[in-house]
Amino acid sequence: MSTEFHSEHSSASAPKIIVAIDGPAGAGKSTIARHLARHFGLLNLETGAMYRAFALKALRAALSLDESSALERLAGETIIHLVPTSGENRVFLDGEDVTGELRNAAVTDAASRVSVFPVIRAWMVRLQQQMGSAGGVVMEGRDIGTVVFPHADVKIFLDAAPEVRGMRRFEQMGAHTERQPDEVILELRERDKRDRNRADSPLKPAEDAVVLDSTDMTLAEAVKVAERLVEARLA
Ligand code: C5P
Repeated sequence: MSTEFHSEHSSASAPKIIVAIDGPAGAGKSTIARHLARHFGLLNLETGAMYRAFALKALRAALSLDESSALERLAGETIIHLVPTSGENRVFLDGEDVTGELRNAAVTDAASRVSVFPVIRAWMVRLQQQMGSAGGVVMEGRDIGTVVFPHADVKIFLDAAPEVRGMRRFEQMGAHTERQPDEVILELRERDKRDRNRADSPLKPAEDAVVLDSTDMTLAEAVKVAERLVEARLA
């Protein structure tokens, strides 16, 4: 059970802060995290990609996604390796670059199923803590401000109405998608429900998080608000 973490380190002059960005799917976490990483010279770590990579392995092994012990055994022989870049993280599963396989509907659904199991979460959280402990990172996920880094320097909980998030997701899929907007919104609601209602580390804002609701904002506006929050912490 391990995750290797290789990267060009955040720039030497980068602040050694930890920025936690949590929130439901489609709220704009990745857009904001990537901007903050570029702007402040931080490493951007996408924790959802780790759950997705493990879910892909479980799907390939045709495991039941409801069986904690089988998933735990599989985790024991899994190496996930994240490489931050200026865009999305590149993700290696047992040495294979699987970045291009992580965003389809089957993996997306499976990631939210395997992530309910405490044993899988404990493994991921430990690795995420190792990756971020030196600081100089912006880490996005569902439980970063509540569980992974409860003492993060800046905590942002990004939210938006499900219809708005669903439409953003749909638009990101591009003109050639065969998906329908309603279908995307429905899937996102189901995933949110599972993430918010699981017993272990449910999706919720940390008590000291700034809740940023971008329902009536453009993502560019939300990016500016987030940038000011980090600047204020550094001042
Ligand atoms: O962020 P992303 O959509 O890639 O995450 C995929 C799934 O992984 C989420 O729906 C959630 O169930 C799970 N996840 C999690 N905790 C995190 C990041 C992701 O449970 N920190």
